[in-house]
Amino acid sequence: AVAASVLLAEGAVKQILVVDLDVHHGDGTALIFGDEPRVFTFSMHCDDNWPLEKPPSDLDVALPKGTGDAGYLASLDDFLPALLDQVRPGLVFYIAGVDPHQDDRLGKLALTDQGLMTRERRVIEAVRGRSIPLVTVLGGGYGHDVHVVAQRHSFVFHAAADFLVG
Ligand SMILES: [Zn+2]
Repeated sequence: AVAASVLLAEGAVKQILVVDLDVHHGDGTALIFGDEPRVFTFSMHCDDNWPLEKPPSDLDVALPKGTGDAGYLASLDDFLPALLDQVRPGLVFYIAGVDPHQDDRLGKLALTDQGLMTRERRVIEAVRGRSIPLVTVLGGGYGHDVHVVAQRHSFVFHAAADFLVG
């Protein structure tokens, strides 16, 4: 939110899209940019999860507990490409939380490693395929083994590298 606000104030971009795929609702950016039309906030999250009070994003997609790869990816495909064409952002911030993973301690969704990898590829292809600049930031990811969680976070960087190489 700070980076988006600075870029807008500097006139570096006119329109920003926040794609928040952390399993928890994107309540911070939703609240901060509730009255800011130059930042469109999109949150796809687990409905039955923290925070209990979810201030409305510009687009909220609430998935039921236990949604797996197929349902999750279908929902992403339903919304993200159309949203990019509608909002036509000059920059996308992607909050790449890995807590929708089936083994996440707080997530409540049921994505596999393969599902998460596919998600990262589809986001990057949808955004970069339209030549829109993309900022990717880490989001949630909760487990007892830090190496396993770190590996899940690495998927988005592998996907970005693969896209660059083609
Ligand atoms: Zn989270």
